[in-house]
Amino acid sequence: MAARKARTRKPPAAQCKPCKGTGEVSRTVRVGRKHREVGEQTGLCLNCFGTGEQPTA
Ligand SMILES: [Zn+2]
Repeated sequence: MAARKARTRKPPAAQCKPCKGTGEVSRTVRVGRKHREVGEQTGLCLNCFGTGEQPTA
């Protein structure tokens, strides 16, 4: 049995899903009672808080 070299190779940080690793998420902005869409707005991803990495909890 050949001795295996133990490599401590750290896998790359998992990409945050909601923002796809960008740290920002675009959300549709709606206004009024009819919720008319007025455009998109980018906001900080609340899942990774802008890091773009999937938090390991
Ligand atoms: Zn994120």
